Amino acid sequence: MNLAPYPPPHAREAELDQLADRLRGELVTYGASVEGRPLRALRVPAAQPSAPKLVCGANIHGVEWIAGQVAHGLLHRLVAADPYQLRRRAELWVIPCINPDGHARTWQRQGRGSLPELRANAHGVDLNRNFPLPGGALPSRLPGAGSTIPGAPTYRGPAPLSEPETAALSALLTELRPHATANLHSFMGTLIPASVRDRPAYRVYRELCRAFADAQPSHRYRRLASRHFDVFTGEQEDHQHHALDGWALCVETFTVAASFRQHLRAPALFWRFNPRDPAPWIDNDVAGLFAYFDAALAHPRPSALAATERPSLRPSQKDL
Ligand SMILES: [Zn+2]
Repeated sequence: MNLAPYPPPHAREAELDQLADRLRGELVTYGASVEGRPLRALRVPAAQPSAPKLVCGANIHGVEWIAGQVAHGLLHRLVAADPYQLRRRAELWVIPCINPDGHARTWQRQGRGSLPELRANAHGVDLNRNFPLPGGALPSRLPGAGSTIPGAPTYRGPAPLSEPETAALSALLTELRPHATANLHSFMGTLIPASVRDRPAYRVYRELCRAFADAQPSHRYRRLASRHFDVFTGEQEDHQHHALDGWALCVETFTVAASFRQHLRAPALFWRFNPRDPAPWIDNDVAGLFAYFDAALAHPRPSALAATERPSLRPSQKDL
């Protein structure tokens, strides 16, 4: 089939089974998709049961297969070595495919179709616009912020967590309360932290993104953030930061320029999102992920950070 070197769904699941064996991890089925496919996470236990938890999730958008490959790459790297001794310091959860129905549809159509067809779940919902907005914020009308129209690429669904994939993921994350999370996408070559207004958290995200990019051997991704113009869109990161009090980063693998170069020659939508040669991108981003998690472990949770820093934030000192 012509999506090689990307493995088809059954081979990807089999690879996850092997990785679980090699890492002596535990495979957890935390729910089922609209079409009944298991939602699977791999838990890699820490030496200390009380260690903080880190979560890496991928492929919430069905067509973004490179994201799942980066998640597997993180596990392969853990088998071969353990940069930063992460296993000693944290319990790692990896969810390589949050949207298995979208992934399977992409396979069935051999990567050809419109963006909503290959991106959404089986109800046509963009799962990354289906999380509750923090603190009762109102939906934004900016482009990409989420649509109320079924069939739109960013259709947010009838209600927050209306979809089994997001409801199950939110329940799992609420139980785990991860210290930090990384959500893997493609193809913008950027790092997008949770949207925050408070200066201490904004500063930490700048540091975490720098740690990520500095560790990347070939393509350093740029941070995309603003304290003033970013909006809440029902994306995973904002829920993870504001409702679950953990550091949360969206990683857009691949770059726009590299995507355009190969997409012009291969017009299937799949090749806009997924590099023909995934290996260098996996290496590039796995290195960044380890550095990001290492840096996040050095900080308290967002709420604790805000509590310790608030007294020093007098406008007269900081804003001038
Ligand atoms: Zn995406």
